[in-house]
Amino acid sequence: MNAFEELGLKEELVRAIADLGFETPTPIQQKAIPILLSGTTDFVGLAQTGTGKTAAFGMPLLQLIDVSQKYPQALIVCPTRELCLQICNDLQDYKKYMKGAIAEPVYGGASIVMQIRALKKGVHIVVATPGRLIDMIERKAIDLEKVKYVVLDEADEMLNMGFRDDIDFVLKNTVRRESTWMFSATMLPEVKAISKNFMRNPQEVTVGKKNIANVNIAHQYFITPAHSRYETLKRLVDFNPGMYGIIFTRTKADAQEITERLVKEDYDIEALHGDLTQQQRDKVMSRFRQKNIQLLIATDVAARGIDVEGITHIINYELPDDMEVYTHRSGRTARAGKSGICISICHSREAYKIRQLEKMTNAQFHRLDIPTGNDVCRKQFFHFMDKLMAADTSHGEYETYLTDLQKKFADISKEDVLKRVAALEFNHFLKYYKNAEDLNARNDFREKRFEGNNRDVARRDRGSFSSDNGFTRLFINLGTKDGFYKASFLQYILDESDLKKDMLGKIDLREMNAWVEIDKSVAGKMIKAIDGKKYHGRLVRMNEADSGFKRPTDEGGGRKRIPLREKRY
Ligand code: AMP
Repeated sequence: MNAFEELGLKEELVRAIADLGFETPTPIQQKAIPILLSGTTDFVGLAQTGTGKTAAFGMPLLQLIDVSQKYPQALIVCPTRELCLQICNDLQDYKKYMKGAIAEPVYGGASIVMQIRALKKGVHIVVATPGRLIDMIERKAIDLEKVKYVVLDEADEMLNMGFRDDIDFVLKNTVRRESTWMFSATMLPEVKAISKNFMRNPQEVTVGKKNIANVNIAHQYFITPAHSRYETLKRLVDFNPGMYGIIFTRTKADAQEITERLVKEDYDIEALHGDLTQQQRDKVMSRFRQKNIQLLIATDVAARGIDVEGITHIINYELPDDMEVYTHRSGRTARAGKSGICISICHSREAYKIRQLEKMTNAQFHRLDIPTGNDVCRKQFFHFMDKLMAADTSHGEYETYLTDLQKKFADISKEDVLKRVAALEFNHFLKYYKNAEDLNARNDFREKRFEGNNRDVARRDRGSFSSDNGFTRLFINLGTKDGFYKASFLQYILDESDLKKDMLGKIDLREMNAWVEIDKSVAGKMIKAIDGKKYHGRLVRMNEADSGFKRPTDEGGGRKRIPLREKRY
């Protein structure tokens, strides 16, 4: 008997599983399938995406539905349109040998009329996002009267996105529910509340340790001054020529801005964020899936639930504020037993975040040096040579041109031809990286604390350390006596100077005054914006604290400018 049959799955499903190439059930499948097949047990599965949870609930649902009865018997609610479509696709694969079983997606941003029409034809399983589902219920376009099984997939994410009321509404409106199955990566208090309010003695299954990161993921981080973040991103992408990855930013605006800059510099990248129409998002996703785009840049919400095969790298352009989000992001790689790399670009004030992540994921994070320009060129060169050697010459009529080619190159040596080929491919890289600056934040006392005990540093051609970490300290004559507390003070200096929070380090707010650590490159801008202004009638003084009241120039730290990268193709 095959391992899936042993779990109690019927022959049609087992055959489909074999076609998919699944050989052994994943831990969540092993534990959940026998419980869920009973059809009457409530269930909470603490498992992340990438653990095989879709099959863990999808297979039992397909087995439990009565195909001869054409009305919704099962409802799967999930946070995003992408996940909704993905679950439907997966169900499509699983029910390959089950005649007549129908699963329909219901999600916002697409024609509701078409979806209503599809439901009217009769379905067994509805896969829905909360907003559109509520819309359908209110229009009486969906009949939940006979729904026996409700699955809440990625419940924590739905709650994070503010769908609490919608979920309550759905659960209250499925009155003939025989069982409720909830899957969540984390046991948020709201997740607990749902299980308490709507479930009867749910069986709880946790896969691995809660929130443990996939062991196949290598976690790497690079430390750079805040103003070099973008340049570091480019360098890391250039250093990994075979990269097929997703870059995460905190905000839509960042995703948009970085995409525009990278596209201008001819990188193969598109953005996925909430401001795109559904059609645009579908197009981007489809191009990415087909590997027509090398890089996707996304916000967390937009990328939720994306399951794309073969992602080699995840890049955190910035570390997320919420550490849980890190596991969601990194989980986009190393899927189905493959390995992957999760890269984080940090600045030296984020030591504590790396330590928290190590603790939370129980994984080791490796600090690596940001590659030098030479490193990048060498890597690109070898990558190109591999490509050259692997070139498929079986399809063209190369033989016909061979005599002419031989004549043309008769007086040039093989070495010379190779040199010219390399020059064609590399001159732009060599030129661009000729005097590339060292992007690593310099070692100082903060970094030493940062390194911890298990630091694994791969040093390459690193020059000598200076004690400059790219920050300077500003003094300001405002404090708590002016009515400030930390958040309002931060808001005030950021609003006045029109700078972003990631340019700041530690803020030391005292009664009479405060010290602000700030990236050197923008210190001048902040001083110019604030010094001499009035706050509640009082003259505000701001100056550089560590350099004898010397006022920095507008250009601040004088970062060396790198000429614009040449077009790559
Ligand atoms: P999920 O957690 O449902 O997003 O699944 C993650 C990936 O694992 C999907 O690409 C599935 O096709 C794959 N998968 C699910 N179950 C198995 C299994 N038993 N063996 C191998 N791959 C699986």
